[in-house]
Amino acid sequence: MDLDKVIRKVPDFPKPGILFYDVTSVFTNAEAFQYVVDTMVESYSAQKVDGIIAIESRGFLLGACFAYKKGLPLVLARKKGKLPGKTVSESYDLEYGSATLEIHKEDLLPGKRWLIIDDLIATGGTLKAVANMIESVGAEVAGIFSIIGLPFLRYHDKIGQYNPITLVDYEGE
Ligand code: AMP
Repeated sequence: MDLDKVIRKVPDFPKPGILFYDVTSVFTNAEAFQYVVDTMVESYSAQKVDGIIAIESRGFLLGACFAYKKGLPLVLARKKGKLPGKTVSESYDLEYGSATLEIHKEDLLPGKRWLIIDDLIATGGTLKAVANMIESVGAEVAGIFSIIGLPFLRYHDKIGQYNPITLVDYEGE
């Protein structure tokens, strides 16, 4: 499966100078979506994963598939202000702008190994923020999965220790 052919690239979105890799074109391609989900699940077949942390919003779609297929708890990392219960939160810088993510505190069980799932790794700031939350409650990061990686933004410096797995890497724009 050549995912590069499936991923829609939108120049200058959401800001001039950003090449936006749009994975909604993977979700609309049933064969590509099945390939991504099957490959993702297979990539962790030999590892102990106790639960999934899926990042809003495209990460939710992948995380839900993983959790369903493997019968694991699915915990959502949501943008600030969306979760009604007590949360842990972490602010971070994006490739463009900054943001805060929150996770329900009672769901983020200590001592468990959590796999973090998103659609794309740019600077790694988002995933690092989630990894920090996991570690702040005494839990462990089992791994990081994303469809796309932009290694030229040096995300390995931030999250390399968690062995991120990506299915397509882009080396520049
Ligand atoms: P980062 O924290 O820099 O790794 O940014 C990752 C988050 O921002 C992911 O949730 C992506 O969906 C989104 N993102 C950042 N850069 C891009 C891009 N060039 N194309 C599509 N999504 C992006």
